[in-house]
Formats: sequence, C-alpha cells, structure tokens
Amino acid sequence: MNNSREIDHLEKIVLELNAINEVAPFLRAQGLQRPVVIADQNTYTAAGQEVMESLQEQGLQTKLCLLDPNETGDVVADEQAVVQLLLEVETGITDGLIAVGSGTIHDIVRFVSYKTGVPFISVPTAPSVDGFTSAGAPLIIRGVKKTVVAVPPMAIFADLRVLMQAPQPLVAAGFGDMLGKYTSLFDWKISHLTGGEPYSEQAALITEQALNSCVQHAAEIGERTEEGVRILMTALIESGIAMLLFGQSHPASGAEHHLSHYWEMEYLRRGNRALLHGAKVGVACAEISRLYHAAVEEGLFPGQQPEALRKYGDQIREWIADVPTAAQIQELLVLTGGPSTREELGIDEDLFAESLREAHLVRYNRHTLLRALNEA
Ligand SMILES: [Zn+2]
Repeated sequence: MNNSREIDHLEKIVLELNAINEVAPFLRAQGLQRPVVIADQNTYTAAGQEVMESLQEQGLQTKLCLLDPNETGDVVADEQAVVQLLLEVETGITDGLIAVGSGTIHDIVRFVSYKTGVPFISVPTAPSVDGFTSAGAPLIIRGVKKTVVAVPPMAIFADLRVLMQAPQPLVAAGFGDMLGKYTSLFDWKISHLTGGEPYSEQAALITEQALNSCVQHAAEIGERTEEGVRILMTALIESGIAMLLFGQSHPASGAEHHLSHYWEMEYLRRGNRALLHGAKVGVACAEISRLYHAAVEEGLFPGQQPEALRKYGDQIREWIADVPTAAQIQELLVLTGGPSTREELGIDEDLFAESLREAHLVRYNRHTLLRALNEA
C-alpha cells in the first residue's frame, strides 16, 4: 500500500498493547527532539500523561498543550483551538506534534502541522472515527464547518490498552462510522455510474472488507474485548487508508455523511452540544437505507425519471439488494450499544424532514441517490 504519493507521509502504523512506549524511540530515530504533546483534560488522563512521561524519560524536551473546552464543555476544532496550539509551536524549535485524542484533536493538529510544516504523530485514545489518517481537516470557523487542506500523520501509535478503556459511546460511534460504508459504497457506485465520478476497485474493496470484518465481530466490539477493539481500530485505519489511496472521501462518505453534516451544522446554529460523529452516521445510514429501499420498491422515480437513472434502473436495483435494510442496520447499532434511532439521537421530526430534502446540497458536486431522488 505504499505506491501512492499521499500515503508516503504515513510511514508507520503500530496497533498493539503498549504502543505508547514506541513513540519515543520512533521520534529519536527520526531525529525529532522537541515535540509538543496535544491533549485535552480527558485524553491527558487516558494517555497524554503517560506519553509525556515516556518521552521525558527518554530525554526528549517535551511541552504540553492542554486544549481548553468551549462554553458547552467540548473541545472543538475551531479558530480558538487552532490559535491555542499555534502559540505553543516555537518556530525553528518545535519539531514534532503528537496528537493524543480522538478525531477533533487530530483535526486541530493536522491543520497546524500542515501550516507550520512540523510533522505530526497520531496517538488515538478511542476507536471512534475513520479520520485519523485524513488529509483534510473539518474545522469550524466563525461557526461554520468547512473542510480544509491538511496532512495525514507521519505515524500512528494505537495502544490497545488505551483503546479498550475508551468510553463505550465512543466505541459504538466508531462502529457507526464503519456501518456508514454500506450506503457510502452504494452511493459511490451511483456517482460513478450516473455522474461519471472517479472510482477505484481497490479502495472500494479495502473499505468493504473493513466493513465486513466489523459486522462479523459486532458482538465483540460491543463488549470491547481486546480482539473486538483491535478489529474495529484496524477497520477504521483501513477505511482511512482507502481514502488516502483514492485521494478523496468517496469510499467512506455518501448521503449518510451529508445527512450527518446537515444535523451537525444545525446543532452549531442552535448552539446545541455536538453529537458524536459516528453516532450520527450510524443512524443516518439506517435512515438512508430505509429511503433507498423504499424508492427502489416504488420504482425509483415513477413518472419523471431522469434519463441516466431510467437507463441504469436494473443496476441500481441489483446494488441496493446488497445494502442491509434499516432494521438490520439498527439491530447492529443496538448490538454495540449505540443509538439506533433519530429519536434516541435527539433529531426532531422537522429537522429530520428538512435534512432529507436538503442534505444533498451539503456537498452538491457529489452525486448520490439522495440527490437524484430530491431532484426528480
Ligand atoms: Zn465518518
């Protein structure tokens, strides 16, 4: 998997018990002496303190950047967090950034890494998203979410001991983010077929295999056994690598992600506390599946079918048969202890209806069946 330009940056992936202990030897081998460790209060307790101590014991001059939460108590990847970290990066001195945390902390660090040219190392504290290796950072600037160019980490040290202790909702969210691949892989084929968007069999296969291994081990993931957590984290990393290889988010992000982003933006506007990304994606995946299966049963676009979709109707019917029903997806979500309905998530009926009508506008250049249905 090292035949791609982008992935050259990702040199090392360690997923094992006590992986944290390998951070210092790696930094030393790279000639990096003065790293900044970035964490929040929770992830500092979970792993950050241990990382700091291990680096200091091995003679590295380490500085801590403890990110502050906002008014609602969350650490958010916004301009305040970005500046807080920038203030800790000393030009010509700081030579490494170590992100200790889940997705949000990684997004802050990967953006600052890109802007300062200081390489970053990933220490995930929960198997909660597939974005650890992402080359883009979703930031919230002046209250609006936008994805900006950033860099993937130079290395990932995923410590199973730490990941197994991650709060259960974060593990369920990671599983929800993986289940989202059922509809993202379907929508990717639709975008290729009807919109001529690029497609990669290899990236699709990596993503599909990662999804299947999670589904086969859903019970162990729900119980947070060592094997279950290893399988989930492996799948999340593989899904991230598929996106890096392909160079875009198509393999892992379709209408279910657009729905989730729509809810997220509305929550931002309302000043509500953010929901976990993967929790939203899992529920959105079930709802998109419900919509797609119903649309196919009703003959896709009775009366006014767009040309391309009329032409490809049989193909679409064949592909939808591979997407589990909403009930099956919800059953899997329940098995891992995550929210399985929009009521549990707290998405009210008005927001839900509005999001189904408008979510395709979140990323309008991307073809999905949702966009086709809404435009028919
Ligand atoms: Zn996702």
